[in-house]
Amino acid sequence: MAEIQTINTAATQYEIFAGLEHTNHEQIVFCQDNATGLKAIIAIHNTILGPGLGGTRMWMYAHEKDAIRDAMRLSRGMTYKASVAGLNLGGAKAVIIGDPKLHKSEALMRKFGRFVENLHGKYITAEDVGTTTRDMEYVKMETNHVVGLPEIMGGGGDPSPVTAYGTYMGIKASAKAAWGNDSLHGKSVAVLGIGKVGMHLVEYLHKEGARIYVSDISESAIQAAVENHGAIPVSGEDMIGLDVDIFAPCALGGLLNTENIGRLKCQIVAGAANNQLEDEKIHGDLIRDKGIFYAPDFVINAGGLINVYSEYTGYVREKAFAQTENIYNTILDIYGIASEKKINTQLAAIELAERRIQSMMHVHSTF
Ligand code: NAD
Repeated sequence: MAEIQTINTAATQYEIFAGLEHTNHEQIVFCQDNATGLKAIIAIHNTILGPGLGGTRMWMYAHEKDAIRDAMRLSRGMTYKASVAGLNLGGAKAVIIGDPKLHKSEALMRKFGRFVENLHGKYITAEDVGTTTRDMEYVKMETNHVVGLPEIMGGGGDPSPVTAYGTYMGIKASAKAAWGNDSLHGKSVAVLGIGKVGMHLVEYLHKEGARIYVSDISESAIQAAVENHGAIPVSGEDMIGLDVDIFAPCALGGLLNTENIGRLKCQIVAGAANNQLEDEKIHGDLIRDKGIFYAPDFVINAGGLINVYSEYTGYVREKAFAQTENIYNTILDIYGIASEKKINTQLAAIELAERRIQSMMHVHSTF
């Protein structure tokens, strides 16, 4: 998502408000507690569709302005992700400033939970980088506005299988858009990163008869994909330029840049990794100019969010999978908008998300 340019020096009050105005944020909450050392920021971007849901990231930010910027950038991304997934959810995100290994404690997480509770459901939290389901159990002791809990506590458990299913649906929709047929039988697919999501995706692809190439820094993951799903191992450097039909990034974000997009030989880029494009405008356009079908990451990987949302409304795993299946239609809609408006698919997805928010704003304009 676009950077918040206005908060680029000392985070004075004026600059924070200028940043909020620029991105149209609703509210920023600063949470401070001397006894536990809690320093947290909750950024609520937009609640037109429903309460803002977004995980709590704990990170040793070098400057407070970096923490504010991260919370604002990520919360805006959550607004679009929830909207395009068709959920009655807005976008928000929390960051706790500190080293999770050194500064985290039961008291700190529960104090954070008190702050979440004080927002009366306008913000729903979950785990993210630097926080765990155990931390969310502490948060839950102070508020019900938390999701991503273990199954034993009524939660949905690991969202990765649902995320992988949505990614698989997005790949099939992309195949339909590119070749007029969504069958992946005989298609070659390169999966970069075979962790929790990537491995489930490999399983789906294998069942459908795709030819699968895999790469990972974990030797044991590669071995499992080769032995269980007939995957072919490839070195990391060769992965992007591999002559395949589909490239599915499922490791870390920020992967696609000006240099390596030039080396892509595939016709489809569709994978679960977050923030795949280093710059959504420049690199979204570069991919489009190459005639590649790019399934926007925040649309195709929304299964995880759909999973935790179903937890909030009473978790039923089948319901989460059924709702995730709709990613297929959404991806097709996005290719349609991109082609009609001659814009890249990342921007088309944002447009689709904004359209839904605008239309619901009208629906909610009367009591
Ligand atoms: P994971 O940590 O289980 O798997 C990531 C895999 O990528 C690991 O096997 C790791 O060894 C590998 N990897 C890391 N760096 C690599 C590199 N340089 N080259 C090759 N392999 C590398 O994570 P995950 O839960 O499977 O998530 C994968 C991606 O999907 C992440 O970007 C994540 O943010 C995104 N995502 C996940 C979910 C979910 O439900 N888990 C939901 C939405 C988005």
